[in-house]
Amino acid sequence: MVVTRFAPSPTGYLHIGGARTALFSYLYARRHGGRFLLRIEDTDRERSTQAAVDAIFEGMAWLGLTSDAEPVYQTARYPRYTELIEQMLANGSAYRCYASREELDTLRAEQQARKEKPRYDGRWRPAPGKSLPEPPPGVAPVIRFANPLDGEVVVKDLIKGDMRFANRELDDLIIARGDGTPTYNFCVVVDDADMGISHVIRGDDHVNNTPKQMNLFTALGFTPPAYAHVSMILGGDGAKLSKRHGALGVMEYRAMGFLPDGLLNYLVRLGWSHGDQELFTRAEMEALFDFDHVSSSPARFDMEKAYWVNHQYLKTAPLAVVEPEFDWHLRNAGIDPAAGPALAPVIEAQRERCRTLVEMTEKSAFFYRDFEQYVEKDAAKHLKPEAMPVLQALIEGFSGVGDWSAEPLHAVVQQVGEALGVKLGVVAQPIRVACCGMAVSPPIDQTLALLGRERTLARLQRAADWITAQ
Ligand code: GLU
Repeated sequence: MVVTRFAPSPTGYLHIGGARTALFSYLYARRHGGRFLLRIEDTDRERSTQAAVDAIFEGMAWLGLTSDAEPVYQTARYPRYTELIEQMLANGSAYRCYASREELDTLRAEQQARKEKPRYDGRWRPAPGKSLPEPPPGVAPVIRFANPLDGEVVVKDLIKGDMRFANRELDDLIIARGDGTPTYNFCVVVDDADMGISHVIRGDDHVNNTPKQMNLFTALGFTPPAYAHVSMILGGDGAKLSKRHGALGVMEYRAMGFLPDGLLNYLVRLGWSHGDQELFTRAEMEALFDFDHVSSSPARFDMEKAYWVNHQYLKTAPLAVVEPEFDWHLRNAGIDPAAGPALAPVIEAQRERCRTLVEMTEKSAFFYRDFEQYVEKDAAKHLKPEAMPVLQALIEGFSGVGDWSAEPLHAVVQQVGEALGVKLGVVAQPIRVACCGMAVSPPIDQTLALLGRERTLARLQRAADWITAQ
């Protein structure tokens, strides 16, 4: 049974790199009919906040990366950590270390002077025939893991291949501090074991923790999981990903007009490939994702491509998916979606020409509320005195339309053109500027059908008045 988890530390919002790690974990579980779990690594009380926990949940929910069980909070698990630390002390796989900070600093300085790699020298580690010093009075000891002294740990990484670590290079890890609180690596191992995690999928900044964690698994009597360390995401210029490259929170991508699956599709391709295919439905991602095709080299973030992918989604996604997001954007822009046409036909009219829902909102606002002014250059070009007869003929023609739908409206536009002996554009462009405030819109008959009789006639009149007032 495949069980994966996403284990964020709640110290900030869910950013794009975290979302990709979560996505890979989620997809791998789906692909294998397994379970995807969420763990909040909140033991760092100084830096963890409830606001960050909420932001992570919000991001995960928006992306539809739902966990198959209630989230696990590390802070709720101290009794379990303590129990296992006691067990390790009892069976000799951990020991108390009374070395003071000054002592350890001296040790480190000596090692550095000898050009050795600084490491704990095992002075408090029990061994057959070794006599330990008397514990100094009043010192609260840390607890260290008795890491195996010989041999090596082989991490069979699903992305990076085999990585070998000599045990003699690994320190005796502190698993509990002087005040008894367990340390990060220890908690991760206990949780991964108790949650039955089969595959740990995480950023490769954790690679160096892995051999220590695997030794801990074994010492606790558990079998280590499989590991997949995902390479980091770089900016388009090859530098560390920063805000200016797009290292933003997931919800900022929502505000920028991305659809959740569009963003996921972009993210899944940051490292993973399936032949030349660029576009995947969520079902395809769930059916195809594997680690054989995840690259071990860092992926580069490409904002233009992210927009392109989003546009492909916006063009083809089911209306039921786009509608609620479009509704959210309209409201976000202070527009009442009930004050105009139904959203579905507006989406259909606009989706070809909009890369984002922000663009769709900007280009559709005129359906729902009157605009303050015309786009200056468009008005200068198309609302000239010559347009007066066109506008007047249109007002007259449209007033006589009984069934306010695209076909009869189209007929009026054509008749006006013929009657005045002008090309269609000469009729259509003044209508656009008059009714939409700008010279671009979906096909004019469709636009006016959606805009409705009242608004169309009022705006044509307003344009005529505006010309007169110039
Ligand atoms: N909490 C860690 C992080 O946010 C992840 C630890 C793990 O996945 O093992 O980087």
